[in-house]
Amino acid sequence: MAGIVVVFDFDSTIIECDSDNWLLDEFGLTEKFYQLLPTTPWGWNPLMDKMMNELHSQGKTIEDIVEVLKRTPIHPCIVPAIKAAHSLGCELKIVSDANIFFIETILKHHGVRHCFSEITANPSFVNEEGRLRIGPYYDYLKSSHGCSLCPPNMCKGLVMDRIQNSLDAAGKKKFMIYLGDGSGDFCPSLKLKDSDYLTPRTNFRLCDLVSKNSNAIKAEVHAWRDGAELENVLLHIINKTINGEGSNGTSGSTPIISVDCKFGTISIDGHNPFPKALSVPI
Ligand SMILES: [Mg+2]
Ligand SMILES: [Zn+2]
Repeated sequence: MAGIVVVFDFDSTIIECDSDNWLLDEFGLTEKFYQLLPTTPWGWNPLMDKMMNELHSQGKTIEDIVEVLKRTPIHPCIVPAIKAAHSLGCELKIVSDANIFFIETILKHHGVRHCFSEITANPSFVNEEGRLRIGPYYDYLKSSHGCSLCPPNMCKGLVMDRIQNSLDAAGKKKFMIYLGDGSGDFCPSLKLKDSDYLTPRTNFRLCDLVSKNSNAIKAEVHAWRDGAELENVLLHIINKTINGEGSNGTSGSTPIISVDCKFGTISIDGHNPFPKALSVPI
């Protein structure tokens, strides 16, 4: 094994969109969803569950849902990037606020489900009536997870704590690469150590949060704009580590990765972490 754990977000990281929004759009339920959202107690997951009930009552089957999920937009470089990281011996995981059924259906369709050792996401299953049920990862009706940075149904930082503790308990010397785009990816970003890598998506919320709170980020940051840059950044970090150049800033000559996070273009190479004191126009 390469001693590298790669943790992926799913929506707008592996796929090009939000999987819930994609499904609602394709079935013409977006307007209804957002009409009901402010009036629905307990938020997003129960309302998605309700929308699945709506589909079921309209006569839509699980097969219909699967067909829509198979068409979910995904950049052509993402599947090769996942396969390459897996074949180089990295352990791949997903930590996502999407639901398990959507994620697994899309990964299986692209032939990469086996590349991931673990998927942490909102639970979902098909019930005896053939209806998809969706629930929250964290049962926030019973208690709070206690993290004010994260939505009530999932604190990805707590999931990262668990992953890091299990690696420590197994005595495995590993470092992590975290890929994400959204505000829910900020909390786990704070958990990364200085030997780890954080790769936020340019022009998305995580990139803003990282630049505004750069002093709180210990990991080396490399941004990416699309699936092609994700593949480049990911494989560059993996190869650098496997080739014995160490993690984080100890490499020799490395290609420059050009990124911008809404505030213009910055050049980042293997020596220079993300600039620490950026002012970001709001
Ligand atoms: Mg996302
Ligand atoms: Zn959190």
